[in-house]
Amino acid sequence: MQSRYSMNKKDKKPYIKWILIIGAVLIAASITVWLYLHDWDMERSLNALTGGDSQQPAVESEAEEQIVDVQEEDVVIPEEKEEEVEEELPVTPEPNEEAVEEEVKDATVYPESIELPDEPTVIDGILLANKQNPLPSDYAPGVNPDAQDAFGAMRAEALKSNIDLTAFSTFRDFARQKELYEGYVAKDGQEKADRYSARPGFSEHQTGLAFDIGESGAEQHWAAASFGDTEAGKWVADNAHRFGFILRYPEGKEQLTGYMHESWHFRYVGKEAAKEIYDADITLEEYLEQQ
Ligand SMILES: [Zn+2]
Repeated sequence: MQSRYSMNKKDKKPYIKWILIIGAVLIAASITVWLYLHDWDMERSLNALTGGDSQQPAVESEAEEQIVDVQEEDVVIPEEKEEEVEEELPVTPEPNEEAVEEEVKDATVYPESIELPDEPTVIDGILLANKQNPLPSDYAPGVNPDAQDAFGAMRAEALKSNIDLTAFSTFRDFARQKELYEGYVAKDGQEKADRYSARPGFSEHQTGLAFDIGESGAEQHWAAASFGDTEAGKWVADNAHRFGFILRYPEGKEQLTGYMHESWHFRYVGKEAAKEIYDADITLEEYLEQQ
């Protein structure tokens, strides 16, 4: 039946075959023209249809792969570098920060259990009193006579430059320091008071070797940071070591000494140690560590 139908169809309408062929050619031509006008890459699309085994597309795809490779490398390398930098940066400072924090704790913070000793700490003949090295509560030697003489000599020398030095605070016993400290805590709170005042048993003034120095008639600069900017303050800072005194709490050394900078607080350690500490620009703590 089927073959007979075909035979019949061919016999009856032979021109249909040609109409279909011409129509197909016209459609193909139209598509080609349309694609050409739309700037479509026929070669590549044909290659894609036939498997793309011609050389040009292969080269192009290789080039594309290389571009992709380069792009990937370009992206990957900086990322790795950034990661390395990011990893290195926190790793390096962290131990330093911890070390600084430990130093802060060591020097400026009192030990958890504060028990006053029976004897003061003496290293290489030099008495050390700070937040880690307290004094017996009954340690009350009064003003050290050598320190008193040294201050007298320094005062006489300064007078030659018309600077009239005075020691407005020297020896303070345990009871007096207790009174002072508790007054400061009531006024500023304990945390702030601990930065500029010693707890009873921890004050260097209890040793009789600490002198708070100012200028007579310039009381506004006594126990004030401004003293360091006055002519008298500069003179003492430059010359005290010649008489056996050191600036006990220098600027920027709070972590080592335990106290904020005090331009007026000087400590008698003797001429030899004072000169070495002054020349090396170090603190008493650093100096005694080297002994
Ligand atoms: Zn003082």
